[in-house]
Amino acid sequence: MSQKIKMPQREPQVRKKDFEQVNTGYTKEQMLLEAKRCLQCKDPMCVKGCPVEINIPGFIKYLSEDNPKEAIKVLNHKTSLPAICGRVCPQENQCEKNCILGIKGQSVSIGNLERYAADITADNDVESVYVVVEKNNIKVAVIGSGPAGLTCGGDLLKRGYSVTVFESLHDTGGVLRYGIPEFRLPKKVLDTEINKLTKLGMKFILNTLIGRTKTLQDLFNEEFKAIFISVGAGLPKFANIQGENLNHVYCSNEFLVRVNLMRSYDFPNYDTPVYRGKNVVVVGGGNTAIDSARTAVRLGAETVKLIYRRSENEMPARLEEREHAKEEGIEFVTLTNPVKFIGDEKGSVKAVECIKMQLGFPDTSGRRKPIPISNSNYIVETDMVILALGLNPNPILSSLTENLKIDSKGYILIDKNYMTSIKGVFAGGDIVGGDTVISAMGMGKQAAKNIMCYLTNN
Ligand code: FAD
Ligand code: SF4
Repeated sequence: MSQKIKMPQREPQVRKKDFEQVNTGYTKEQMLLEAKRCLQCKDPMCVKGCPVEINIPGFIKYLSEDNPKEAIKVLNHKTSLPAICGRVCPQENQCEKNCILGIKGQSVSIGNLERYAADITADNDVESVYVVVEKNNIKVAVIGSGPAGLTCGGDLLKRGYSVTVFESLHDTGGVLRYGIPEFRLPKKVLDTEINKLTKLGMKFILNTLIGRTKTLQDLFNEEFKAIFISVGAGLPKFANIQGENLNHVYCSNEFLVRVNLMRSYDFPNYDTPVYRGKNVVVVGGGNTAIDSARTAVRLGAETVKLIYRRSENEMPARLEEREHAKEEGIEFVTLTNPVKFIGDEKGSVKAVECIKMQLGFPDTSGRRKPIPISNSNYIVETDMVILALGLNPNPILSSLTENLKIDSKGYILIDKNYMTSIKGVFAGGDIVGGDTVISAMGMGKQAAKNIMCYLTNN
């Protein structure tokens, strides 16, 4: 059985010194070889694993005929962000996991093919990739410009609605811009996807915190007939242990926002300094932890230790990212948890006291629960700690909006039609409990369908 064509990548010793892309993308010859591996199944299991139900054999067929122009049309029928999904979606747990070729051998590299189709057609006119109907002048407001908002807004635009996206930050894209680093998702790729939506007529109003700068009622007063809330879950969790307030103990959000959004890696050209640790400890096991660790390497750290309380099998971070991190010299210290951060006389962190852990029975997350091993404490010396312990929903909008119901953890409650407790107000993405780009996009799509249905009937 044929082997999948490996994605070409830059050498670890070279790439760890800069923020350029790690994976360089298939050549045409590599794309053709990979596309021709697809069996064009009559009942394609891969599609069942895709949250936005892309016609996967359909776009791959066009690629195998070296016709990316038609391939991208098939993709754009279901996704407005193929260059992004091709790079950051956890395909190994979704479409590629279901691919029939994976049962006895290696699945088709669906994500790498999607990326090829999007990159090679990036400069095509929007008219040649989207079918847009006539404008109907009905106004819909989207709050938050991450993948959920862009997808919901994009689908509404393509059906003729007038879409305005309100964003609290000074730039668009949500986590795609401020969280995921340049070496995984270049800003140029994100800008190309967003520019296509702007050309279709999507309006962006930046630096506007809905809830504070304007309320939902203000938006209804401005003649928006429906609202989609996609504000993500950007509130960092903390360990609540001694020493967390010491200098040079960062939360991953602050660290990544400073580096990615504010471009502190290019200081002093960009006026946002960030501390550059020599011996860095990152705590966590998700994509955010791996991104923080790999960013610290690129900022010049001599050693980076990734401390995680479970084993690598339970790590939520993508396999490819874990492999890349190890190639770049990051040391995985698993079954270990910090219990205390220790400071020097100037109030800066100088060490982490850790405890060893063992795995017990599965907990509510379905993963085996980590249990501390008594008297196993030891000290790890460090001059910088980055905490990547997960994110909670940001409470600003929900706390300032009367009658917007949330659950006990702060996620906005929605019904089966994606409508919140307020009529005409819908929600999706991480703010209702999603945790990947593609799940945010899937919810954005479903919400758009329901918003159209609501607007037709009200
Ligand atoms: P977000 O992307 O969080 O966007 C929400 C937007 O709303 C933000 O721009 C925010 O500024 C804005 N906003 C918030 N409040 C307001 C307000 N009141 N008014 C106006 N605007 C507001 N997923 C993957 O699938 N693959 C990955 O490789 C991956 N890597 C990740 C790496 C990192 C570092 C992080 C943090 C997450 C990663 N994820 C990954 C998760 C993924 O990025 C999120 O699930 C996804 O971005 C959620 O999309 P969203 O549209 O719901 O929200
Ligand atoms: Fe092609 Fe695999 Fe999908 Fe079959 S399951 S259509 S082989 S990608």
